[in-house]
Amino acid sequence: PTEQIPQSDLKPNGNKRKTIVILGSGWGSITTLKHLDTSLYNVIIVSPRNYFLFTPLLPSVPTGTVDVKSITDPVRTVARATPGQVLYLEAEATDVDPVSKKVTIKHKSNSMTFGEAMINEEEPIITTVDYDYLVFGVGAQTTTFGIPGVAENASYLKEAHDAVVIRQKIFNSIEAAQLLPVGSEERKRLLSVVVCGGGPTGVELAAEVKDYIDQDLSRWLPGIEKEMTVTLVEALPNVLNAFNQKLIKYTEEVFKRQELDLRTNTMVKKVDRKNVYAVHKNASGEQESIAIPYGTLVWATGNGPREITKSLASKIEEQKTARRGLLIDAYLKVDGSDSIYALGDCTFTKNPPTAQVAHQEGIFLASHFEKLSKIDDLQYSIKTETEADKLDKLNRRLERAKASLRPFEYVYQGSLAYIGTERAVADLVWGDFSNVSTGGSLTFLFWRSAYVSMILGVRSKILVCFDWLKVGIFGRDCSKE
Ligand code: FAD
Ligand code: NAD
Repeated sequence: PTEQIPQSDLKPNGNKRKTIVILGSGWGSITTLKHLDTSLYNVIIVSPRNYFLFTPLLPSVPTGTVDVKSITDPVRTVARATPGQVLYLEAEATDVDPVSKKVTIKHKSNSMTFGEAMINEEEPIITTVDYDYLVFGVGAQTTTFGIPGVAENASYLKEAHDAVVIRQKIFNSIEAAQLLPVGSEERKRLLSVVVCGGGPTGVELAAEVKDYIDQDLSRWLPGIEKEMTVTLVEALPNVLNAFNQKLIKYTEEVFKRQELDLRTNTMVKKVDRKNVYAVHKNASGEQESIAIPYGTLVWATGNGPREITKSLASKIEEQKTARRGLLIDAYLKVDGSDSIYALGDCTFTKNPPTAQVAHQEGIFLASHFEKLSKIDDLQYSIKTETEADKLDKLNRRLERAKASLRPFEYVYQGSLAYIGTERAVADLVWGDFSNVSTGGSLTFLFWRSAYVSMILGVRSKILVCFDWLKVGIFGRDCSKE
């Protein structure tokens, strides 16, 4: 596929144009692509998802507060806006050979539903791409901690498709429940939505679903708000553990007021088709086993490394201790490799696995590659230069270019989370000293404006604002799709 790139193999100065292969189309990879001067390299981006997904608004999708299309940006649109030529391949990397600098890729689409018949499953399309530099940004996957029954029965909230599945499960359960007598145990079970994991993903989803029931479904199905339950299960004593204590307490109060059933100190041990089985530790430390029936179950207990990340780690001696993600240096270079850079959730660093970190790393990496290109060009010119004074100048420029390579530094800008009933919590940082922890309706407005400013494309910014306006005027609908 490298030959398909219509860009010349040589740069205008005659130096060879190196190839960067970017794996993934998430926060880290797309930010790198967006900020990279793609005229300096041959750029190939490989991802089973042909769009970027703005994950911070994903919890708003199952309820229809935001349309899934509004928070996606096609990879090709991003690629076309860069100065050079970029080749996008819809595939997943199945193997990386760090010695021969080759990635094996297999055709795969994240949303393979229609058109599947055209692709021969028995003869999958597999090919390889060579790289000079590899940008490894494959993210992470939701971890189940091997808890029995989770993988078979729960939905996750990681991809656009997950949000659609959650909506369909909620509606399948609601519609089925209408056939059963009010008060029956089976009807109660079907009308129970259980979210496991009280991190920001679980909190925001539970809050959105509860809003949807109270504000919209109650209009279409009067009385459903009294029957339908939303339960949030968290193993630790509090939800939102990365937030300030004051905001944790505020969130718990808001949940209580809106009758969202919060079960803290409750560790899920097993799941079957109808129940979540957990151990609850009470105030005196005694443990009791409980079962929570569900019609819809969402699992949001955090991240674990993908198979491709574990496979790459197993091939590099310096990565032998990398259990939770790739180990990288201050320039995002994978320890033990001279040509693989990794960023975002597939790495294990002192920074949290957030979009904020992956985004800043992407900006850093794009600028780092520009500096590497300059260094490479100077080294090429030095090799071909014969005049002594010109050579001297070039050497000095090379020293300066090398000195311009600075390590990555993460700047924490704060955390935000939606907690329901048009309230949000925010842990904000201004400058070096001032931290502000705030929660409520004004924070909700701040949350909305901050998220709009974070959205990468103008089109998506406008679409999201229109979605909010539409919901403000007409409410959210109750169709299954
Ligand atoms: P991702 O964005 O997950 O992208 C990984 C990419 O790799 C995807 O395109 C995927 O298709 C692709 N890929 C996977 N396997 C392969 C393969 N084998 N070969 C090639 N490509 C592959 N963070 C915040 O800072 N603020 C928030 O408000 C926030 N809200 C969130 C809400 C939700 C519901 C979720 C799930 C996460 C949220 N996060 C938030 C966390 C944030 O989304 C992640 O930290 C961020 O997406 C990490 O970026 P990434 O580029 O490492 O991975
Ligand atoms: P998380 O790791 O932040 O939280 C998972 C929660 O699940 C933890 O509180 C953990 O105690 C709990 N848990 C684990 N096993 C359990 C079990 N068996 N039973 C009950 N509870 C269990 O995961 P997340 O919420 O998916 O977030 C992942 C990353 O994405 C984090 O870095 C987070 O900051 C980021 N994120 C940020 C936002 C935001 O800023 N608004 C939103 C979503 C995600």
